[in-house]
Order: sequence, then C-alpha cells, then structure tokens
Amino acid sequence: MLLVIDLPVARIGEDFLKLKDIVARLPAGNIATLKILEEIRVKNNKVPWHKLIRFALHIPKHSIIAWMVVLNRLPTKDKLSSQGLNVDMVCLLCNRADESRDHML
Ligand SMILES: [Zn+2]
Repeated sequence: MLLVIDLPVARIGEDFLKLKDIVARLPAGNIATLKILEEIRVKNNKVPWHKLIRFALHIPKHSIIAWMVVLNRLPTKDKLSSQGLNVDMVCLLCNRADESRDHML
C-alpha cells in the first residue's frame, strides 16, 4: 500500500510571506532576531504557577519536568495505557496503586 503524505508546502509559503511582511515593517538596518520573535510569538497571560518553573538559578532540566508535572504530561503508566500501550499499571515504587501523576506526587 502506498502512503501519500501531503507536505505543508503551501503553509510554509504562507508563513514565509508573513515573516517577510513583518521584516519589511521593521526599521531598515535594525533587524534583530529578538524583534522578529516579539512580532511572531503568541502572547498569552502569565499562568499563576510560572514562578515554579522560571526563577533565578533554576535548573532547566528540573524546570521542564516541573512544567510537565503541572500540565500532567509526564509519561506515567496511566498516560501510556490511555495511549493504547499494554503496560503493567502498578507503581514500581510501592506496588500498591496505579502509577499516575497524582499518585507519584
Ligand atoms: Zn507508588
């Protein structure tokens, strides 16, 4: 069976044209990556737990794990099972309950 995948060429072209418009609006000779980033990024309100993730002297690896915990995106056994994987649900640390974010923390 032949699998045909549509490449998002048109979307890439649209994004390139948007970026080209943004760069054209910036003052000539003053194009900086930070200014382009400020133009294209989606600005949302800060979440109340942002200081748990980003603070002075944070360790990036720990911040990413904390972020995944808050969003319940850790690959715990309950999440793996919900994605269709056949895994033993019992927690490896205590063998008393199903492994989930709430159980582990
Ligand atoms: Zn446990």
